[in-house]
Amino acid sequence: MEDRWHDIDLILNRAGNLVGPGFEPGPELRDLLQSDDTRVLCVGAGGLGCEILKDLALSGFVNIDVIDMDTIDVSNLNRQFLFRPRDVGKSKALVAAERINARVSGVQVVPHHCRIEEKPAEFYKQFTVIVLGLDSLEARRYMNSVVCSFLGFEDDGSTDFSTIKPMVDGGTEGFKGHARVIYPGYTPCFECTLWLFPPQVKFPLCTLAETPRTAPHCIEYAHLILWGQVRQGEDFDADNEEHMQWVYQRALERSQQYGIPGVTYQLTQGVVKNIIPAIASTNAIISAVCVLEAIKIVTMCSPGLNNYMMYMGSQGIYTHTVAYERDPKCPICSPGVPLDVEQSMTLKEVLDKMMVDPVLSTLLKKPSVSYGSKNLYVAQGIFEADTRVNLQKTIGELVPDERPILTVNDKSLSAPMRVMLRFTDKMVM
Ligand SMILES: [Zn+2]
Repeated sequence: MEDRWHDIDLILNRAGNLVGPGFEPGPELRDLLQSDDTRVLCVGAGGLGCEILKDLALSGFVNIDVIDMDTIDVSNLNRQFLFRPRDVGKSKALVAAERINARVSGVQVVPHHCRIEEKPAEFYKQFTVIVLGLDSLEARRYMNSVVCSFLGFEDDGSTDFSTIKPMVDGGTEGFKGHARVIYPGYTPCFECTLWLFPPQVKFPLCTLAETPRTAPHCIEYAHLILWGQVRQGEDFDADNEEHMQWVYQRALERSQQYGIPGVTYQLTQGVVKNIIPAIASTNAIISAVCVLEAIKIVTMCSPGLNNYMMYMGSQGIYTHTVAYERDPKCPICSPGVPLDVEQSMTLKEVLDKMMVDPVLSTLLKKPSVSYGSKNLYVAQGIFEADTRVNLQKTIGELVPDERPILTVNDKSLSAPMRVMLRFTDKMVM
């Protein structure tokens, strides 16, 4: 069994000129990897998640948690190799954990079958490193906002290093993939480089209605235009077989009318659900990069990826690494948008001031504000009445702090942002 860690020991027990800063080789590094203090969270147990869990378990990590809200579908089985036909309908997180625990002795995978939003921030705080194997931008932004919310700042606005929660993100799309390492407050967070995710390509409606040229045009015509005309008041549900069949039949009719080949049921599903075929080998490659980065973060055995690697495998193999830069004004990972207020102003007046601030007024519509874990004002829902009383209290009374940083949430934001209050009446003293 000692031989089992031969390869990882070669990395951890030897020095060299490729090791990370401050790296000291030795057997205690594997002990560190396997100690109770080193906990890794894998977010997602799908195509990428299965690979990440397997790689973590075989690379020497012992304490692993996995979170995923999905259940296993028969179409997952070609690549999500931890699942079997008898598992269809069961929780991905539960089955994945069970399989790894059964196959890799000594490993403890703890499953969480729920939405990532259901866990409190404290849950995410316990992990040494968080590895993301997700397929949606929204989920990534959410996880990003969670790790960035842990950030603390020094008086000069620099990041308090003890509050950094490293995160490794993997993503694949067909033959393309990326891996990135995020040290919030130090390397760019998701919001700093949001432009990396281009908006989804949509066809102009006039093309769909007047001049269809391709099979996807016919499908989108049936999906976006015909459905609303013929089945008024009915919400289209992409998971409803009858709905999908209806769109497919209408798209087929239209394609025959225009002499356009290529409309199939499978393509209809692909276009409507915006599915790009998942490629198992891309998941394997990206997962390997992510887990290697997790090992580096914990052991410092090699300098980390700085900070974004893309992989392209559609025509040969090409990889490229870019050191993206932080956006110093990022609302999520910077110390916050500054707002000059007086301590004697009421919370209501501070909120009003936000709505005329040149930066904040463009971002906010109906802000809710909290300070630490305390809700100062919740603009919507059942807590509105409870917190309304605070509107008349002064901000000095509510936020007795030298460097008060408020967390502001708003329906128009995808994640909470920070506002740093500057007490102008204090500066006079
Ligand atoms: Zn940022």
